[in-house]
Amino acid sequence: AVRLENVSRRFGDLQALDGLDLDMSPGELVALLGPSGCGKTTALRILAGLEDADSGRILVGGKDIANVPVNRRDMGMVFQAYSLFPHLTAVENVEFGLRLRRQSAAARRRRARDMLDLVGIGTHADHYPQQLSGGQQQRVALARALAIQPQVLLLDEPLSALDAKVRIQLRDEIRRIQLEVGTTTLFVTHDQEEALALADRVGVMRAGRLEQIGSPEDIYRSPATGFVAEFVGLSN
Ligand code: ATP
Repeated sequence: AVRLENVSRRFGDLQALDGLDLDMSPGELVALLGPSGCGKTTALRILAGLEDADSGRILVGGKDIANVPVNRRDMGMVFQAYSLFPHLTAVENVEFGLRLRRQSAAARRRRARDMLDLVGIGTHADHYPQQLSGGQQQRVALARALAIQPQVLLLDEPLSALDAKVRIQLRDEIRRIQLEVGTTTLFVTHDQEEALALADRVGVMRAGRLEQIGSPEDIYRSPATGFVAEFVGLSN
């Protein structure tokens, strides 16, 4: 469904992505795992269209999307920092994502409420972001991302600002929801435990390319290189 082919991107002297290849099957959740600066976020931003690649191809459903603008890419995104509009309630934040839909206001409101129910926060639909905990805000952000029924869901360290208990709880819920909606998902993290617990496949990145990609078991039991062994073996 999603394919990055030999994608490179340089920032000044720094080769942030160096011939990255990545293939995702429909419905799959892939975690991109790696240390700070290895290019995870750059890969995600290039997929989203927030950043251009210097070379290589990005294919979604077999189509090269290089020239498709951000708002036409049909991708839902959740970032590390809470990106909700503070002056809109939870349900209004989700509706905002649907504003370009040719739907009645009532239909948009219904859809937004359904999505908040899906992520387990329906009872807080009329709360403003500052009345919600960090975990609750991320649930709203997830509802907003999913409301448009995106072809691809992009999650960039969505849990890293949360405390450990909430992080694990929401991680498991993201997995449940992702299986339920079946959206092809790329999840960027530097947390090996999170990646191994969540993903169908884990891609370990190093210096702008994939060092190894495989099932959590493969990565954990049969690391292909010393780098993978060391990075994945680190306990928190
Ligand atoms: P982190 O977990 O710290 O965000 P990452 O693996 O997501 O790390 P990227 O954010 O993709 O890494 O960054 C890869 C490298 O490219 C880093 O060294 C970063 O400083 C650099 N970089 C990213 N974006 C830019 C930019 N717009 N201008 C200059 N350098 C950049």
